[in-house]
Amino acid sequence: MTTNLDFIEECERHLKGKFAQTDDIAYHNQVKVLSAFRNNRIAVRHFVGTTGYGYGDEGRDTLGKLYADVFNAEAGIVSPHLLSGTHSLSVALFGLLKSGDTLFCLSGMPYDTIRPVILGENIGSLKDMGVNFVCCDLDKNGKMNFSEIREKFSENVKVVYIQRSRGYELRDAFSCEEIGKACEFVRSLGFKGCIFVDNCYGEFVEKIEPTDVGADLCVGSLIKNAGGGLAPTGGYIVGKSEYIEAIGRRLTAPSIGLEVGSYAFGYQYFYQGLFMAPHTVAQALKGSLLIGYAMSKLGFINYPSIDKMPYDITRCIEFDDSDKMQNFIREVQYASPIDSFVCCEAWDMPGYDDKIIMAAGTFVSGASIELSADGPVKPPYVAYFQGGLTYEHCRYALERILSKLR
Ligand SMILES: *Cc1c(COP(=O)(O)O)cnc(C)c1O
Repeated sequence: MTTNLDFIEECERHLKGKFAQTDDIAYHNQVKVLSAFRNNRIAVRHFVGTTGYGYGDEGRDTLGKLYADVFNAEAGIVSPHLLSGTHSLSVALFGLLKSGDTLFCLSGMPYDTIRPVILGENIGSLKDMGVNFVCCDLDKNGKMNFSEIREKFSENVKVVYIQRSRGYELRDAFSCEEIGKACEFVRSLGFKGCIFVDNCYGEFVEKIEPTDVGADLCVGSLIKNAGGGLAPTGGYIVGKSEYIEAIGRRLTAPSIGLEVGSYAFGYQYFYQGLFMAPHTVAQALKGSLLIGYAMSKLGFINYPSIDKMPYDITRCIEFDDSDKMQNFIREVQYASPIDSFVCCEAWDMPGYDDKIIMAAGTFVSGASIELSADGPVKPPYVAYFQGGLTYEHCRYALERILSKLR
């Protein structure tokens, strides 16, 4: 049998073309981000924090403009006060919807932690506030089902919701091209409201973003792709000014909107993280391609297919075996820079129905742009794997995993 390193090198030879494509995308996005920095005349003074109300906080306001520029949007909120992806999505939905409105989801049931936000009982959910929810299931190929969308669509729809990445579902992420077609389709049905994209894990994976192809709003987490591994916390919301202003009034208070909000530590890591993000995402993508190819070679079904370019930085690997899945996740933890001595155990994480086992030996707590793996401990025992600040780290984790599996 070949050594693990020989096996990895063989995988890398097969992936040469995909790696070159990934580099090309990263270069395009790096230039895009740098142009936005230049257009917005970013300077050292933007890193300075403020305290108290934060009136006139230039670092905060300019960061929103910078993100808007990168995403080809009119305005943006980028804030450490958006506590996570879930919180960013929740604030945005509550900012846009009122009693009697319908939220219309095109991409199947939304991500686990968003479901209670929409459908929870007596917890202050959108449902509790009188917002209706209509969900279109995906077709058997995991694609958005346009005939079902046409059937279920109604006049009351105020927000159309699309989730780009797979979450804990066995489907591929949607490409921006697919999202663009869905936007066009709902417009052809006469829809005039807001098209809203959960962009978690999708940023900088392609040369374009959903806001380039008809989405009105993109929302994501800064401890995933967009923070480049440097942002210590936070989320972003970019899109049409009228929507951003409405959401800003919800994030703070209707009387003060986006005029307030301080962050004493300052904003350097948010700016620098965005600068790094195209490169970091490329590292994670290459890591995902490598591990995907290697696991396929060993006979483990995994998505997205390694015959295609991926549309997000996550990969799910089916183990059909609880121990193998949990051992894979533990090996990712043992390969981590932080808490490498910890043996992961499944637990009842807030916001999830099943027990989750999670490897996150990360500098930023729970950051999944850093090498991490997790999954609900239930059949078919699928591990979700994502991130990697450096390709080398992913490669090393794979080498360890191989020594367990081969
Ligand atoms: C991670 C994720 C979220 C939630 O983000 P958190 O920061 O974990 O709250 C929402 N949607 C999708 C598709 C995600 O992958």
